[in-house]
Amino acid sequence: MCGIVGYLGDGNTYEVLIKGLHRLEYRGYDSAGIALVDTKGKLHVYKSKGKVENLENMCSGKDLEATAGIAHTRWATHGEPSDNNAHPHYSEDGNLALVHNGTIENYKVLKDALVKHGCKFHSETDTEVLVQLIEYIRLGNNCSLVEAVQEALKQVEGAYAIAVLEKDKPDTIIAARKSSPLVIGIGENEMFLASDASPFVEYTSNAVYLKDGEIAILKKGEPLKIIDLDNNNSKVDVTKLKMSISELEKGGYPHFMLKEIFEQPNTLRESIRGRVVDGGKRIIINGVRDNKETFVNARRIVFVACGTSWHAAMVGKYLFQDICDIPVVVEYASEFRYSNPVLGPGDIVIALSQSGETADTLAAVKIAREKGAFVFGVCNAVGSSIPRETHSGAYIHVGPEIGVASTKAFTGQVMVLTLIALSVAHLKGTLPEEEIARIGKALLDIPEKVEKVLKLNDKIERLSAIYTYAHNFLYLGRGCNFPTALEGALKLKEISYIHAEGYPAAEMKHGPIALIDEEMPSVIIAPKDHLYDKIVSNVQQVKARGGSIVAIVTEGDTVIKNLANHVLEIPEVPECLSPIVASVPLQLLAYYIAINKGKDVDMPRNLAKSVTVE
Ligand code: GLU
Repeated sequence: MCGIVGYLGDGNTYEVLIKGLHRLEYRGYDSAGIALVDTKGKLHVYKSKGKVENLENMCSGKDLEATAGIAHTRWATHGEPSDNNAHPHYSEDGNLALVHNGTIENYKVLKDALVKHGCKFHSETDTEVLVQLIEYIRLGNNCSLVEAVQEALKQVEGAYAIAVLEKDKPDTIIAARKSSPLVIGIGENEMFLASDASPFVEYTSNAVYLKDGEIAILKKGEPLKIIDLDNNNSKVDVTKLKMSISELEKGGYPHFMLKEIFEQPNTLRESIRGRVVDGGKRIIINGVRDNKETFVNARRIVFVACGTSWHAAMVGKYLFQDICDIPVVVEYASEFRYSNPVLGPGDIVIALSQSGETADTLAAVKIAREKGAFVFGVCNAVGSSIPRETHSGAYIHVGPEIGVASTKAFTGQVMVLTLIALSVAHLKGTLPEEEIARIGKALLDIPEKVEKVLKLNDKIERLSAIYTYAHNFLYLGRGCNFPTALEGALKLKEISYIHAEGYPAAEMKHGPIALIDEEMPSVIIAPKDHLYDKIVSNVQQVKARGGSIVAIVTEGDTVIKNLANHVLEIPEVPECLSPIVASVPLQLLAYYIAINKGKDVDMPRNLAKSVTVE
């Protein structure tokens, strides 16, 4: 959601910034803009609604000489997507330009006060208030830009990552953050800043993740300086990035989403690597091992997550209850944070987020800590905010996920939750050693099984043609595959814009069954598990009402094959691992339906990858 890029140095500022914006496109946006300063004291701002290409067209032939610049892709929260509302915003006197990710909650009060003092506004955004406020303070107090930023941020309520440029300071960029991500790249004679490291990973692997309440001063020829709002110095903690450029490119696939679906055998290997040992007999998750007592004595587990991560958490609920005997609740982070959650010692809160920056999940983590719970993070982006705020955690290690519709992060999250549950079951003795060894061994085979599922690609592509023009879909599953149904429905909604509902298969009788007719296909996840006979009845109920059925079944299934219109066979795996293999054909089905409909699967309308606003 929204992307910020900044550059200061001897390189080609404009090109670095535009390339950086392209790298951040996956986060979702509706407009783009750029501000450039040069040594002659000129500040140029170009901005435009729509794609980064529109901005490039607008800039062609313009004066793009610059030693410093900031750029932005906007995901509108205040004011419609338009040229005027696009960032950067500038101060009334044209002295400052600013880009912002987040929301300024008290912008109205601040705006009214500034208007009273004669300030004119040119956009409907909350962001413009911030830049006008900074300049108002700078002029009024006759102070430096840094001091004005410090003072302004003390008056601001809400979330922000910002970068500010001053017209006659072509050697300086000021940046700050609170609850929205910002990372600084330190190269040789050049510095970068961005919402995540992808815009600068090809130039440097030295990154500094800014913390809440910190202000970074990037000044040419000087080391990076970090201070807080009260002028205290902060330590500059340099992290070595492991991300490679090839991970950020499509590698011959037409879309990131398809590339990421096909990467899953490898990403699952990465999620397991070093964690499943002795041929599967032992599972080692450092974060669990180091907090053994906490997990063994856990009174309850509370998952907090949003979107696809919430579905992975739902799989986690079945896992932890089944194999660890721990009661589990799964909360939407956005509801949890405002619901006076009753938490205390003995409660473990597990926060799931691919980006590690999801605003609601991050807020939920902070509340859970305040209330005395032990907080454990399951994230993908190394060094992101949630892993820094939690007591402990486990990364899923699936590499950067660019496709907005999450695929490999979902299977990685489910995999890591399975590993955590197995290691807790081992510590608590709630699952016999032989059973742990059986599942552990099967875990090691999962990447190969997923490779096999991916061979269904051509079949699913053909099948998708039959269902492309349905207006509604029902996805049904039971037990740990109820969340698989939710996730399958979400994939279809996200990228094809077809309405789809995920439902527990038996619950369908209490409502959605009324919708079933020949026009409404049902996708039913029905592997051979302890609920198989039950779901066969549900398949029959749909069939009896004339609904067409696509069923995900275990290889060799004959019963459902006779009932369903189409079956997609997946290899046999232990029940608790079936959501991983069953979700892959659903990802492909959604992908091909969206392609048939001509949709932009990597950048679905209105969606953002990393949801950094509430
Ligand atoms: N709230 C700001 C706006 O609507 C920033 C949105 C963003 O994070 O892109 O312009």
